[in-house]
Amino acid sequence: MNKQHLDQYHKYFLPIYEPVDFIPVEGHGSHLYDEHKNNIIDFAGGVAATALGQTNKILIDALTTQANKLWHVGNIFTNIPQLELAQKLIENTCFDKLCFSNSGTEAVESALKLARRYAIKTFGEHKHEIVAFEKAYHGRTLFAVSTGGQAKYWDGFAPLPAGIKHAPFNQIDGLDGLINKNTAAVILEPIQAECGVILAKIEFIKKIRELCDKYNVALIFDEVQTGIGRTGTLFAYMQYGIEPDIIAVAKALANGFPIGVTLAKDPYTSGFTFGSHGATFGGNPLSCAVANKMFDIVNNNDFLNGVNKRHSFFVAKLQEINKKLNVYCDIRGKGLLIGAELHDKYKGNAYNLVNIAIKHGVSVLNASPNVTRFLPALNIPLDDISQGMARFSNALDEFISANI
Ligand SMILES: *Cc1c(COP(=O)(O)O)cnc(C)c1O
Repeated sequence: MNKQHLDQYHKYFLPIYEPVDFIPVEGHGSHLYDEHKNNIIDFAGGVAATALGQTNKILIDALTTQANKLWHVGNIFTNIPQLELAQKLIENTCFDKLCFSNSGTEAVESALKLARRYAIKTFGEHKHEIVAFEKAYHGRTLFAVSTGGQAKYWDGFAPLPAGIKHAPFNQIDGLDGLINKNTAAVILEPIQAECGVILAKIEFIKKIRELCDKYNVALIFDEVQTGIGRTGTLFAYMQYGIEPDIIAVAKALANGFPIGVTLAKDPYTSGFTFGSHGATFGGNPLSCAVANKMFDIVNNNDFLNGVNKRHSFFVAKLQEINKKLNVYCDIRGKGLLIGAELHDKYKGNAYNLVNIAIKHGVSVLNASPNVTRFLPALNIPLDDISQGMARFSNALDEFISANI
């Protein structure tokens, strides 16, 4: 349907993506439209970024008001939107200080650098190791991708930053010893999203917290995907009964307008001093103005209860379809980060289903080759969920026939 544009895409772009056969030119709420007015119901949610859907009136107003005032000043100045946003983020979390950047990868990179610099400056060069987990996803800069736990993403980029160890996720055995006096930081996603929506077990998190306390290790939560209401609380850590020392946040913070932030507790805040780190666009007035309004909307009990209500509705619809079609062996997740794992006979085909779903007018994601991932807007109307699920059911029919 958009063949000419896709040919153009393949002619000019480095081949890191394979876009689906639908080019959105406009969107409202959870509906996307191409130039022929074909419509898609969006269960992919800009990969967890557009948490209030497309063209939200309040956010348009925040953005355009700011756009008429001041775009960018750089870090020789502070600016009012970044001051407001910083205050909100600090006063509503367990953290003491923050620094802004422009993406999830950068927020992770800042977290790792902060933790490592704190450890080295406080305890000495030996304390530089990072403990990370297999299959984790932390972004694509060399430090971030090296802490991520998927070898295919490092392939061809060696030499990688040194001192990073990977352990099996959710396995308590072996942590004692792996986390030790040489460890600067442990980094994890409270829900491993990209690799299949794997929820961290509470005992696993508690054990890591205990070992981090014992050895003065910074516990970093990568909440780039789970943050800003996605799992039904402002941040996912709030459901684990522990506090991380540092978190990385991005994706939904400005509803798809690029922004990242790294928040840290004392004493880890002292890891950076004047000149240790920076980002030209970090904390720019436009993204912070949008994030300010975004934060006010999401950080509200009624709004967050609405996310949990939509979770139940969404999962019930999916289970109903699955009862008939029996494609998935497990449906899991929190809030509106939902994963459905394909039965053995369909394994490896989650990306095919992404393409088939587009043909039927609904966008979904995969998470690993075996899991379908749903990240709808946190305010998606229940009617859109029903209608999107009806379309997805048709897509599954085609998927099943194609796999017989
Ligand atoms: C998306 C994501 C990142 C990377 O964020 P970018 O904005 O793509 O750089 C890092 N960690 C997690 C958990 C993510 O989901």
